[in-house]
Amino acid sequence: MDVKKIAVLPGDGIGPEVMQEALKVLDAVQSKFNVKFEYKHALVGGAAWDDYQTHLPEDTLKICRESDAILFGSVGGPVREQDTDKWRGVEVNSLLGLRKAFGLYANLRPAKLYSSLAFASPLRSDISEKGFDIWVVRELTGGIYFGKPKGRTGDGETEAAFDTMIYSRAEIKRIARVAFEAARKRRGKVTSIDKANVLTTMVFWRQVVEEIAKEYPDVEYEPMYVDNAAMQLTKNPQQFDVMLCGNMFGDILSDEAAALTGSLGMLPSASIADGSFGMYEPGGGSAPDIAGQGVANPIAQILSAAMMLRYSFDMVEAAEVIETAVERVLNDGYRTGDIWQEGGKNTGTSEMGDRIVEKIESKNS
Ligand code: NAD
Repeated sequence: MDVKKIAVLPGDGIGPEVMQEALKVLDAVQSKFNVKFEYKHALVGGAAWDDYQTHLPEDTLKICRESDAILFGSVGGPVREQDTDKWRGVEVNSLLGLRKAFGLYANLRPAKLYSSLAFASPLRSDISEKGFDIWVVRELTGGIYFGKPKGRTGDGETEAAFDTMIYSRAEIKRIARVAFEAARKRRGKVTSIDKANVLTTMVFWRQVVEEIAKEYPDVEYEPMYVDNAAMQLTKNPQQFDVMLCGNMFGDILSDEAAALTGSLGMLPSASIADGSFGMYEPGGGSAPDIAGQGVANPIAQILSAAMMLRYSFDMVEAAEVIETAVERVLNDGYRTGDIWQEGGKNTGTSEMGDRIVEKIESKNS
């Protein structure tokens, strides 16, 4: 039997509550498919501070190194305590620390609008009611955010500031392959976002992506200017499957796509390294305002686990079973507070997990 080792880092706030539901769901998948998940729990964020006086202890890194993937909850404390030693810098230390330690250079951000939650979208109803399902693949460690030189020069009216947009062939090839591989496991289309009509870096980006596209004749490839892409997202989001972006365009478009779903708390995300290693986490934070009340929506965490199965473990069918179960529970009208709708069935964190497990275990899942 296949054994997969998962580093489980629940973190702070609602992290432990929603993580418990994701593990319930993974347990259900485990008995349906021929796989064994080995969970190794580790502390991160404020939860690690009390024992270790650091947000990312070496013990946690060791567990992550010995695992096939990291399932991450969320970190962060209450707003009024932000300036205490325990909480200061917790996100940067935990998340950027993990990104750096594991070379997580690609950010995968799905934006899925379920037709049953179309009411939450800011899009016109004839567009939103069809739903959409997009993955933004964003390069995370290069481009204009990190290019050198950057700085300020001169003074008075001649004072100026500058950044450098730079991508190497190797960087573009690597992120393009992530997008094409992802598309192969989805609906088989990559839209590469650039600004090749203006920027030299983006002419090069398009050229290199076209070279990689030839390696994937089974995947449809289309280049699109970023300004058009921002507009097409609002007019016809259904045309997109995987959107391949550099760091800055990906930053902006992934937020736009997520906002169009109207329910950030439903969205998972992943940061991945070369090979199959990745870290999977909900798009939202630790929600200290509702922590400990049993009302948090566990779906983003559960879908993060599904993403881990699809991407790191190549268990596409198991991922689909989870995603379908979530969709069916939503279609049945079960709602946590964040996706509340008149006439919905009021559902707590643990019940939402149970309902999803029920669907996974039902005969026609
Ligand atoms: P947040 O995402 O935690 O919460 C924003 C709002 O969304 C809150 O009203 C919260 O109750 C709600 N919400 C979030 N997730 C939800 C869920 N699963 N179910 C129901 N409602 C949900 O963002 P914030 O309030 O700006 O930040 C709170 C803390 O989280 C801060 O300390 C911040 O630094 C941290 N944070 C961590 C991460 C991370 O760990 N990746 C990301 C963002 C923010």
